Amino acid sequence: MRDKEGKKDTLPFIFHVSDLKGYLALSKRKIKEINDTSRVYPLKVSYFYLNLIDKTNPECPIKRQCIPDIKELSHQGEVDPLIEDRHSITPSFIKKYPGRGVFLTGAQCAVYCRFCNRKRLTGRDHDIKASHKDTFAYLKKDASIQEVIVSGGDPMMLSPEELDHILSNLFSIDHIKTIRISSRVPLVYPEGITDGHINAIKKINPLWFIIHINHPREITDEFSEKIRMLRETGCILLGHTVLLRGVNDCPFILAHLFQGLVMLGIKPYYLFQLDEVRGVMHFKVQVQRGIEIMKTLRRNISGLAMPTYTIDITGGSGKVPVDYNYIKRGSGDKIYIEDFKGRTGIYLDNGKKSICNRCGVCNKKA
Ligand code: SF4
Repeated sequence: MRDKEGKKDTLPFIFHVSDLKGYLALSKRKIKEINDTSRVYPLKVSYFYLNLIDKTNPECPIKRQCIPDIKELSHQGEVDPLIEDRHSITPSFIKKYPGRGVFLTGAQCAVYCRFCNRKRLTGRDHDIKASHKDTFAYLKKDASIQEVIVSGGDPMMLSPEELDHILSNLFSIDHIKTIRISSRVPLVYPEGITDGHINAIKKINPLWFIIHINHPREITDEFSEKIRMLRETGCILLGHTVLLRGVNDCPFILAHLFQGLVMLGIKPYYLFQLDEVRGVMHFKVQVQRGIEIMKTLRRNISGLAMPTYTIDITGGSGKVPVDYNYIKRGSGDKIYIEDFKGRTGIYLDNGKKSICNRCGVCNKKA
């Protein structure tokens, strides 16, 4: 038998509900629901991730992230709420903001996450790779692009040669100063990261490596070992988490996750409010709950472990931080600020108007 991507004989992934036997006790009704759902949104889970499921817990947060749920067939939400398709320069390059863009490496991932905001793409037969040449030609011409986010699908599902080709080409373009990779492979399929991938990453300096991780149970020994290897390449590691109902919408879970990441040398960067994507809306948490969680976290964990709670506005207006407002009110020079224990302190806001020191930095092209 061959992989869907036509690569290997022994597959490290499952693609069908029948492969879940022995991993999950499923009723006939549940099997039908998984089948119906995966016909619309494909099923793929690495054996590694499947083994993280707690069989004794019907509410297991790992299971919720990877096993199709009939709720995905709801018509709530938009197919492409961040209007990425409208901002596509080529099928593999999205430019929504000045100065930066997203390079889509492909549509394959090690797990098709049930909450994915690119559900319209992942696991489908989009020939994203065929347009990489056009993307490079565009990037060479558009000198305004200084930052490229290498995403997908999951870029770490590329072969080491493909990854090396993309990273080296991006790095060779003079006006591209910042390269980011976003991946879940280190936690969902750690064995997929080979010495070849590590060598490709080692050549790029600086490289920002964003790990998309949502629950402390995803911090395994195997993940920690890959993080150690990645840190040795010299790349800078950041964490990206999506707030998911029934998975991590709890301050204890997130405190444990963010502190665990800091211990491994990964700075929690964003906690994202769920994008309003069709098929994922059952994971939505109320924003007020997210703000309360952030408030509890700020009281209990180091600032180093705090990400920025952010909403990517539906309609493509961009990302905006949404955190608790500690400034309660002001009168005259006084600002009343709530401290972490709920007490009110006063800050005298009597600084003078800013002055220009004529250093000339503002005249330099950004
Ligand atoms: S790995 Fe990323 S792109 Fe792939 S399904 Fe999961 S969230 Fe979506």
